[in-house]
Amino acid sequence: MMLDAARLRADFPLLERQEHGRRLVYLDNAATTQKPEAVLSAIADYYRTTNANVHRGAYALAIRATEAYEAARAKLAAFVNAWAPEGVVFTRGTTESINLVAGSYGRAHVGRGDTVVVTAMDHHSNLVPWQILCQERGATLRMVEITEDGRIDLSDFGTALERRPKLVAFPYVSNALGTVNPVAQLAKLAHAVGAVVVVDGAQSTPHLRVDVQALDCDFYALSGHKMLGPMGSGALVAKPELLEAMPPYHGGGEMISRVFDDHSTYNKIPHKFEAGTPNVEAAVGLAAAIGYLEKIGLERIAEHEQALAQAAIEQLTQIDGVTVYGPRGHRAGVVSFTYGDIHPHDIATILDQDGVCIRAGHHCTQPLMRRLNVPATARASFYLYNELGDVAALAGSLVKAGALFGYVPA
Ligand code: PMP
Repeated sequence: MMLDAARLRADFPLLERQEHGRRLVYLDNAATTQKPEAVLSAIADYYRTTNANVHRGAYALAIRATEAYEAARAKLAAFVNAWAPEGVVFTRGTTESINLVAGSYGRAHVGRGDTVVVTAMDHHSNLVPWQILCQERGATLRMVEITEDGRIDLSDFGTALERRPKLVAFPYVSNALGTVNPVAQLAKLAHAVGAVVVVDGAQSTPHLRVDVQALDCDFYALSGHKMLGPMGSGALVAKPELLEAMPPYHGGGEMISRVFDDHSTYNKIPHKFEAGTPNVEAAVGLAAAIGYLEKIGLERIAEHEQALAQAAIEQLTQIDGVTVYGPRGHRAGVVSFTYGDIHPHDIATILDQDGVCIRAGHHCTQPLMRRLNVPATARASFYLYNELGDVAALAGSLVKAGALFGYVPA
């Protein structure tokens, strides 16, 4: 059953706005989501009632601020079934989380002649940090190919594992194709050859029920701003024993235990990885976002988005000249497409005139675009406040765009 999106939409002040005098049809949720009143007011309330620097204060206000920050950590830990709250390191988002793993775990464990495995559908933020690490260490980066229908090629994945990589990284959900990868299966195969598994959870955490222990990955990166939370919120979720053994990433206040003239000892996890004053506002806002998502239920959200994606694929593929990329059947609420030889940027600009916001470009997946033989795609991505009317608006506007370029609608 679909969600009552019209009712949910009323919780999002920005969605009340118009663009070019038209109802705002926001279909760029894979880039970032809008924020409900519950998140906006949690942030304002924090500053109105609780703000002080955390962890070091001896007065009641600072203790309350610390409690709010740590309660947010516990909430996020429960949300993804983390191994322990200490295994949740707050970061600015997925990109920083993956750089943390590469800079700390990677530098400590990947050396000359070693292999790191990534996939051809990885976002640049789960690719470039590994390129930098491998270049620095004299290690080999092995990219696993994808199948025609946009899935990880399991046979090539198996071949890559024959190199006994130190580390294997892949996305749970592809931001460009909507593919939902079989994470538990991939993690099991990688563990069997002794690799550590890094999962990019930027596009999965907002849209489906995540249980990192059931997935049995080692590191899981997520972004709060893609799940109704504030910009600059996010986390690295990790097995605590791995974090314990890792060297620090950033140096500074809070991450230390004792500081001598020429060396220091370090704080316990997760604080060892949270140097400096943290973004408390982001953590508090993210906790409010999780509260909002939990009230609806991740299972219902996933079902709703799959119905929207299915409707979009059906309607778009009926338009002559439109190609939709990625798997058919089970997939996330991300629909990438091209329309004949119309440049995706032109499509996005024309749709904008109708108040329809979609993304056009390479979606930070240039190796994937090369494999699809396109420079870019247009992408519509859905969330809980989108409804079937938004899909119809997308399709209708696309037909108009096609007519402008001489494509006759089917
Ligand atoms: N991985 C994937 C699959 C993504 O979609 C994104 C965001 N586009 C990222 C990583 C990076 O997330 P952030 O910019 O929040 O760090």
